[in-house]
Parts: sequence; structure tokens; C-alpha cells
Amino acid sequence: MSTITPTSTTEIAQAADVAGLELFDLMNEYQYEQVVMCHEPYTNLRAIICIHNTTLGPALGGIRMWPYQNEREAIVDAMRLARGMTFKAAVAGLNLGGGKTVVIGDPRKDKSEALFRALGRFVDTLNGRYIAAEDVGTATQDMDYVAMETPYVTGIDSPDGGSGDPSPMTAFGVFQGIRAAAKKTYGTHNLDGLRISMQGCGHVGSYLGALLHEAGAKLTVTDIHQENIDGVVEATGATVVAPENIYDVPADIFAPCALGGIVNPETLARLTASGDLKIIAGAANNVLDNDQTGQLLHDKGILYAPDYVINAGGLINVSEELGGYNGDRAKKRVEKIYDNLTRVFDLATDLNIPTHQASEKVALDRIASVRPIADVYTGRARTSWQHKPIALQG
Ligand code: NAD
Repeated sequence: MSTITPTSTTEIAQAADVAGLELFDLMNEYQYEQVVMCHEPYTNLRAIICIHNTTLGPALGGIRMWPYQNEREAIVDAMRLARGMTFKAAVAGLNLGGGKTVVIGDPRKDKSEALFRALGRFVDTLNGRYIAAEDVGTATQDMDYVAMETPYVTGIDSPDGGSGDPSPMTAFGVFQGIRAAAKKTYGTHNLDGLRISMQGCGHVGSYLGALLHEAGAKLTVTDIHQENIDGVVEATGATVVAPENIYDVPADIFAPCALGGIVNPETLARLTASGDLKIIAGAANNVLDNDQTGQLLHDKGILYAPDYVINAGGLINVSEELGGYNGDRAKKRVEKIYDNLTRVFDLATDLNIPTHQASEKVALDRIASVRPIADVYTGRARTSWQHKPIALQG
């Protein structure tokens, strides 16, 4: 059996261009298990459920609703995101695989109860191989509709046993990750007096800002929305700079909590101009523009906390719904992000490789180590029709 190759998710889109989107070639190259096209004409549901890998457990991943230009774009996005979930769950120590759903449509105009219930019925046909959750363009109400048709959904309304808004747990996990990065860099995870510049005061940034302030960090923040800044300044007394100036603030730690792709050679030159920056650790997804920038950070001696490791708090939290949600237990599990990142940082040191490569290795090694146990026959997987004798060929 071939293994999952450690490549960046942007490569999947490039490979799709080269291959002209030959789906089976892509599935083979990046080891996807299943891509399901879901269509329901009365609601105009057009959705793709992608399951990347289920070695560790059922594939859990969000339902993204987005006005994709065409179905090729939607398929590639579903594949890219599903594969990312495999790595995220594996490093987080969860018994979950990677999957994702994308729904082609405008979340402001095209949502309906029937649409999400139709999708729920398709999710149900997978018998638990895929478990749905919220993502960009979907909300708790949509998950409640999905839940009317299948038990294989998380992120439902709290009174029904759901885990609620994931942002506080994501922020708590990022906080733990920043502490782990400080310990690796300075020998102590005490953040007292450290200068932290934070980009983005939204759902995660607002909770993270409060935790960092409580821990004694000196905050400089920015956002494009004044009301979001006001909330953080009121809670923390942070210094504020204009969005375009956040890369020029002398700081020990940069915490990106807004957009992806914002650490690139140009911004890195500005972030490091003062010579003080030691750590990049925040909630944003796809922080690095590409893997070469990860190598550049390594060469400059700046510790980068890989995005999907440090921002896994939301996933860990929602996965707790599967065994009956308990907030205290979820928080204890999210706290482990400190240990997960420490393992990644130490492996990167031992092998002298960038941290984004070390986290891929942690994920791939875990999946590879668990895969052989599937050879053990448990006695539950067979039904009588499978015992009919067959004539072997050749
Ligand atoms: P959000 O939309 O609530 O917050 C993002 C904030 O960034 C907003 O306040 C927005 O105004 C601000 N922003 C946008 N462009 C900006 C710019 N150019 N400069 C400065 N600020 C800008 O989103 P969120 O839920 O807080 O998530 C933040 C990041 O963390 C995203 O990248 C998201 O994908 C990632 N993430 C979030 C969660 C979660 O649980 N919410 C989990 C994992 C990862």
C-alpha cells in the first residue's frame, strides 16, 4: 500500500491543473479514499463530500458553503481541505480521519432547511465514515437541519448536547501553543513582559487577547473593523496600530489571527527588521504563503507554530460531542496542544528541519504506525453473504 506523501495543499491545486483534473490520478497521488458528488434537484443541492483518510477513525470535517465559480474549483477545494483535516486530527491525537464537504452556493441567498436536510441524507448514506461540522458559510442552524436526517453531525445547538461556538477553545489552544513556543525559545512559558503583536481582533483574537493580557503580555493589535478593536482595547488596554503597520511593530511574538498567506518574504523582512521577533504563533489558517517561507523561518531561527497544530482547539472541542459533550473535559484535551507543539518543536530540532515539516512527520508517523492493526480480524465486520464460497480465479 502506498503512503500519504507530505506535500503542501497548494500542490493539490497545481497538480489538478497539470492533470486537467483527472480525479482518480489526483486521488491516487494524494491517497484519497472517496469523493462523493451529491445532487438533489428540488433544492438545487450541489455538494461534494470528500473523505481523505480514515485510518485513525471516521473523517470529521466542516461543511463549507461558497459561491464557487465552477465545479472543478469546488472539487479541488474539498480535496485540499479534507487532506488538511487528516493532518490536523492526527497531530491533535484524535481518533479521527480527514474529510470535508463543500456546497456550491451563496450562503447569503441559497440556504434553506430542505437543502441542508437533503445534504444530511447524503451524509447519512456514508454510515459514519464522514461526520459533518460547521465551517465557512455555515452555522449552527444549518447543522441542526443536517441533524434532522443523520446522527453523523457535530456543532449542533447547545441545548441538544452540542459544543457551541468553538472560538473560545481555539483561543485557549492558541494560548497554550504560544506558551509552548515561549518555553522552547526562552526556557520558560511565562509570558509576563513579552511583546506580542496580534493581527485580527475577531472571534478568536478577542478571546486570545484577554488570555495574553491576563498572562502579563504587552499587546499591540490591529483590525480592519474598529468595533472589534474597541472590544479588545477595553479588555486589555492594548496599543493599536493601523492594519498595514502591524508587520513593522517591534515584537517578540507575532500572532496572526485574521488572514492566510500573510507570512511571506516581504512581510517577514518587515517583521524581523527590529531583530526581536522569535516566534510566529496564531490562529489563522495557512499562515505561510508556501513551504519555502517555512524554510526561511527555520534558517532565520524564528520558531513557527504550524497552523493546524496550534489552532486545533475548535476541532478537539467539537470532537468531544461524539462521546457526549463535557466542557471541562474538552478544555483539558485542548490544553494538550502545549504538548503536541512541544513534540513538533523538539522533532524539528532533532532533525534540523522546519517545524511545518516536523508536524507533517508527526502526523504521517502516527497514521503509518496505526494502519497495520486493521489486519486484526475483530469478528464484527462480516455478514453471512460474505461467507459464500467463491471460485478463485487463476
Ligand atoms: P473572524 O472573522 O471572527 O476574525 C477575523 C478578524 O480579522 C476580523 O475581526 C476581521 O475584521 C479581521 N481582519 C480581516 N482582514 C484583516 C486585515 N487585513 N488586517 C487586520 N485584521 C483583519 O475569524 P475567527 O473565527 O476569529 O478566525 C480567525 C482566524 O483563525 C481565521 O484564519 C480562521 O480560519 C482561523 N481559525 C478559527 C477557528 C475558530 O474556532 N474560529 C478555528 C481554527 C482556525
